[in-house]
Amino acid sequence: MTSTPLWRCARCGWLNPPDAKSCTDCSKRKPRAKKAKPPPSFRPWRCVVLALDTAEKTGWSVWVLGKLTSSGEFRIYSGDGVREVIRVVETAKAYALRLGVPWVVMSERSWGGHMGMGATCAFGFWKFALLNAQLPEARVGQVFPAMWRARVLPKGMHAAKRNFVREAELVAASALVDGRHVGNDEAPAILIGKWGTQAGEVGLLLPKSERVTV
Ligand SMILES: [Zn+2]
Repeated sequence: MTSTPLWRCARCGWLNPPDAKSCTDCSKRKPRAKKAKPPPSFRPWRCVVLALDTAEKTGWSVWVLGKLTSSGEFRIYSGDGVREVIRVVETAKAYALRLGVPWVVMSERSWGGHMGMGATCAFGFWKFALLNAQLPEARVGQVFPAMWRARVLPKGMHAAKRNFVREAELVAASALVDGRHVGNDEAPAILIGKWGTQAGEVGLLLPKSERVTV
């Protein structure tokens, strides 16, 4: 038989019954249980990862079985913007079909405020294209910047000033494409993809029967 344990209040130390939503003594809210982070994989997942960073422009990168195949950035609100969204989505899907592996999408999730109307709507275009390409919603994930940055940027960058982070992103992403110049929004997309190839969070997006590595 399993029973939920009593919990001790972080403020006053009172031992509370398991079903109490707040401390009986000082009414501080019960601490939320932390979800365990899925561990990263030692080898890339056997899948295609389309990574997106929708800001002023949309940066994107396609990773096939752990290798970067293409990346770029473009303005959605431009003559070819919507066509480009569809082209990128179809590229990722085509790789997956040819190899007989699943494909997933990882996009950056921001903390509300920074993501203005523009980026929210821009992601709407992607969602539409993904729906059109018949990608199940369960294959679309979001990641907080701090999470992927902690894995692919030098130590301490999560606490660094914005400009330093940008600089570090450009250097790290450029190193993955043989020193080629990468755009400001392409860089994070490349790094999100890099993170995604082995991230436990991407593993969870894969169908259970296909959660295998290359
Ligand atoms: Zn208390």
